[in-house]
Amino acid sequence: MHTNFLLSDSDLSTFNEIEHWSDRLAALLAHQMQSWKLLRNNYDELADIKRKTFRIDGSAHEVQWNPGRIVSSSAMVDEKSVRERSCFLCKENLPKEQRGIVYRDVFLVLCNPFPIFPEHFTIPRKDHTPQEVRQSFPTLLELSRDVSDGYVILYNGPKCGASAPDHLHFHAGSKGFLPIEDEYEKLITKTGEKIADFGGLLAFAVGDFLRPFVSMECDDEDLLQEAFIRYYEVARQLSGGPDEPMMNVMSSFQDGEWRVIIFPRTAHRPSSFLEEGEKNMMVSPAAIDMCGVITTPLEKDFNRITEDYIRQMFREVSPSREQFTGLVQAVAASLSDL
Ligand SMILES: [Zn+2]
Repeated sequence: MHTNFLLSDSDLSTFNEIEHWSDRLAALLAHQMQSWKLLRNNYDELADIKRKTFRIDGSAHEVQWNPGRIVSSSAMVDEKSVRERSCFLCKENLPKEQRGIVYRDVFLVLCNPFPIFPEHFTIPRKDHTPQEVRQSFPTLLELSRDVSDGYVILYNGPKCGASAPDHLHFHAGSKGFLPIEDEYEKLITKTGEKIADFGGLLAFAVGDFLRPFVSMECDDEDLLQEAFIRYYEVARQLSGGPDEPMMNVMSSFQDGEWRVIIFPRTAHRPSSFLEEGEKNMMVSPAAIDMCGVITTPLEKDFNRITEDYIRQMFREVSPSREQFTGLVQAVAASLSDL
C-alpha cells in the first residue's frame, strides 16, 4: 500500500464540490489526470481513437479501435493462468500512481487506466474475493443509485468478460454513453414481452434482438433483489451446473427506480478469438459490448469488422432463440409466485 493511497473528501474537494458520490468519482478522475501520466495519456488517446458505428436491426454498435484494451481483451482467465499471476486488483499490486476512495467500507473506487467510457472506473472489493453476483447484487444496486447523477454500473460474470474472475469488481462509466440506454424504451415497447408486473416490479424479456436480454425495473430494493435471485436460480438450473449462470449486467438508477438489464451468455468468447492467422479476431465481448460499444484492441480487427461479423459474434456468445424462450418461461413462472 502506498502512502496517501486513500483520498478523503477534503483531498477531493480541491477538484470539485463533494455532495454526491458521483462528485467523488469525478474528483478522483481529475486528481488522477494531474498525477498519473499513463492515465492521462490513455484518456488523451481515447479522445482521438478511431470509431465507427454500425446500425443493425435498429440498434447502434459503436466499434472503438482501442489499443489500451489489449491486456483485458487477451487476458488469460483459465484457472491455472489466474492462479499463477499476481492479481492486478489487489491493493499491493496497483500501480504506484493509483489512488482510491473507500466505498461502503469494503470496496474501493479506482480509475481504470485503460478507459472505454469517457469516464471509466473499476470498483473492486478491498479483499481478494471471487467474482460473483449473487451475494454482491445488493452492492451493485446501491452503487448504481449512489452514482446515478453521472454513471451506470456494469458487472461481468467470471466466465464471460471479467478479466479478473478471481477478484470481485464492478465497472462504473459515464451515463448516456452506451447506445442501449437510449434504445431501451423503444426496444421494450416494440419487442418486449412483459413477464412480471406487480408491487412496483416490471420485468421484460426482449428476445427479438441481436443480444437477447431480460430487464427489471423496480423502485423497491428488496423486491428487486428477490426477483434477481429468482432469475439467477432459474438460469443456474437451466445451465445444469453449480456455477454462476453466465451473464453480463447493466444497472442504472433514475427517477427513483432501478433498471437492471441482464444479458444471458452461453460462451465466453466467439470462435474467431481462437482462430489462427487471417480468421483471428481479438474481440472479447463483455457488458460494454453487449450494451453497444465493441472494442477492438488491434487495428486489423477494427478495419475488418463487418455487420456479419458482429451478428455472428453475438449469436455465438448469446443463447439461441429456443434457449432464451425456455429461460424466459421459467423466469416468468418463478416471478409469478414471488
Ligand atoms: Zn485480488
